[in-house]
Amino acid sequence: MTVRTRIAPSPTGDPHVGTAYIALFNQCFARAQGGQFVLRIEDTDQQRSTPESEKAILDSLRWLGLDWQEGPDVGGPHGPYRQSERGDIYKTYCDELVQKGHAFHCYRTAEELEQLREGLREAGRTSLKPSDLALPEEEVEKRHAAGAPYVVRMNVPESGTCVVEDLLRGTIEIDWAQVDAQILLKSDGMPTYHLANVVDDHLMEITHVLRGEEWINSAPKHKLLYEYFGWEMPVLCHLPLLRNPDKTKLSKRKNPTSILYYQRAGFMPEALLNYLGRMGWSMPDEREKFSLEEMLEHFDIQRVSLGGPVFDVEKLSWLNGLW
Ligand code: GLU
Repeated sequence: MTVRTRIAPSPTGDPHVGTAYIALFNQCFARAQGGQFVLRIEDTDQQRSTPESEKAILDSLRWLGLDWQEGPDVGGPHGPYRQSERGDIYKTYCDELVQKGHAFHCYRTAEELEQLREGLREAGRTSLKPSDLALPEEEVEKRHAAGAPYVVRMNVPESGTCVVEDLLRGTIEIDWAQVDAQILLKSDGMPTYHLANVVDDHLMEITHVLRGEEWINSAPKHKLLYEYFGWEMPVLCHLPLLRNPDKTKLSKRKNPTSILYYQRAGFMPEALLNYLGRMGWSMPDEREKFSLEEMLEHFDIQRVSLGGPVFDVEKLSWLNGLW
């Protein structure tokens, strides 16, 4: 089996150091095992995605010395690599789920959803289930005949526990009671992250998904989608979130987070990459300064520590001085 990893940034702003950190670990994981690293652009949020942001992300990753074997600019056999160009693919797979009874058209209006959520809060519940959203058959037909907008949602269990395996964290258990009947296709026909991500990871033959820990709560939905389609799920690995020195989630108020900042301020790309390699990971001999090639030579994902790596511009400046 060829190991294939990917990053899937959304081009909605400046290139973020967190994206480079995830890219670095995906690249090391794949290359250390003779595998391939894919870059996919998740631009289904048409309002917020811009070509400028996509270009800046690609340029910044290349500036850092990170390279990919398949992507929007280099092509490859599993493309197109921009989700905005893959609409028909998602639609076909979503139709399949509806036909198999794993997803349904939901005609609920914004006001009705608001009322339903209010009802849930009062009942001390957290998620909207298919049974909450169901409408009488005649009502569905009436709305359908009137051309009312609808979304496609996936069926989810009402209760019980979802068990997912994580390469670093072991077994993770998430209560189905917390998981909504997730929207898969929006009323404008665009897929949500969950549908597009699962379909693409499968079609692009991704074997290992290394992503930030903020996506752990999506894992049950993804696991269920793989089951519905009858596809093998890639191995999941949720990397720890980067943090400010005060341990809060990395934010630009406390540390510059845009790679453009470091480029413009004259930082060495090798130093920034070196610093990102030290986020929760270290060389066997604990040395501070190392190149991408040295990191690759000694890479072992099991040495990632989950204790909230701190990104501190002061420390990075110090490391930059060594380069
Ligand atoms: N588009 C998501 C992001 O912006 C990708 C998450 C994932 O890797 O699955 O981070």
